[in-house]
Amino acid sequence: MITKKCPQCRANLEKVKFDIGYGVEVESLHCRKCGFNITEDNRLKTAISSLREQMSKEIKIVKIGTGLGVRFPNDVVKSYKLKKGEEIVLKPELDGIKLVTS
Ligand SMILES: [Zn+2]
Repeated sequence: MITKKCPQCRANLEKVKFDIGYGVEVESLHCRKCGFNITEDNRLKTAISSLREQMSKEIKIVKIGTGLGVRFPNDVVKSYKLKKGEEIVLKPELDGIKLVTS
């Protein structure tokens, strides 16, 4: 392993892992002296795609009045701060539908 130096203060960087949620860890280089942090792009991308996998959920279509709706799990409601009456945008994608919050 090559020891990298901090671009700001030239101290040795230390390998650390941090949790970005749902038990997904990203390895990054941290400077103890000045607090500088580097995360390699590909590591972050891998972590984000695995986070996406973790967050994918199956939800059931339910009958609401005369129409149909879906019920969002509580953790999704919390992490996206969804509110009753709020409008979200439905976007067609190649593999399905994407819901976009404003
Ligand atoms: Zn530093």
